[in-house]
Amino acid sequence: MELIDGNKIAATIVAELKEEIAALTVRKPCIALIRVGEDPASVSYVKKKEKTAADIGVTSRILLPPITITQGELFALIDGLNADPAVDGILVQSPLPKHIDEVAVFRRVAPEKDVDGFNTINLGKVAQEDDTGFVACTPAGIMELLARSGVDLKGRHVVVLGRSLIVGKPVALLALQKKAGANATVSICHSATANLPELTRQADVLIAAIGRAEFVTADMVKPGAVVIDVGINRVPDATKKTGYRLTGDVHFPSVAPQCSHITPVPGGVGPMTVAMLMKNTLKAYRLGGGR
Ligand code: NDP
Repeated sequence: MELIDGNKIAATIVAELKEEIAALTVRKPCIALIRVGEDPASVSYVKKKEKTAADIGVTSRILLPPITITQGELFALIDGLNADPAVDGILVQSPLPKHIDEVAVFRRVAPEKDVDGFNTINLGKVAQEDDTGFVACTPAGIMELLARSGVDLKGRHVVVLGRSLIVGKPVALLALQKKAGANATVSICHSATANLPELTRQADVLIAAIGRAEFVTADMVKPGAVVIDVGINRVPDATKKTGYRLTGDVHFPSVAPQCSHITPVPGGVGPMTVAMLMKNTLKAYRLGGGR
């Protein structure tokens, strides 16, 4: 069994980006990070993004509107950033409060600054295999992890657990693309899928993104499969200072011994998401001609 070290692979990508950014002489890329309210997970994700940006020479602009912000006010904030030539990328941290239509917000971000890749245009470009768009960071990170671990999906059966717009659907589309490293046969499962274990047992590559702690157990995995665990779940644990431990959607202790490759949680897909966000920000900067 080979452990796919997301921290190490992400660090390599971040170092590559840092070198590229150091060579930029006119202006450094700039990302605007919008976090609405004080959701603890969002606070920590935005901090991590801000820190990585600073480490590699990307300027970040942090906007922290209160949870009471209206959709109209949030649109106005985004419109201002869309029109600002000093801003290359815009990220609106999910989840947003219930009174705001998240998809409408994703649509509001200008496609050429949509470094999170959730705008309709960019999701469409993934379907059309048009490389001028932005691929959502977690799915892009999964593909990069597989490529850099020597896993070629060609002709293999990829089973994706979860059909969210953020992970499941885009990663399924990426695995399906007619491109080097992809070309998989893809099945997508969700909460209404019948005989789920029967399908997961057919997977050469299993990508779990359902948000259910340790849902995937050894009996659901084919021996020799590659397992990518996207889930980040907080499980109460009195022995931890925080009162919880982080775990994935896969029961790692039982599944890992029978895999050919597996990602741990934490330290697997998570760090890749931030690295790919920085990669997209540099791409936005370059596509904008350094604006
Ligand atoms: P969502 O809640 O948006 O989607 C979950 C998906 O899983 C849905 O399609 C749902 O089905 C499906 N599902 C839920 N329960 C079951 C079940 N028992 N059997 C089969 N399918 C099920 O989650 P996300 O895609 O946003 O996130 C998934 C996980 O990945 C979470 O733990 C999240 O924290 C993590 N994550 C990690 C990231 C990282 O950087 N590592 C980034 C983003 C997410 P249905 O559509 O029918 O409701």
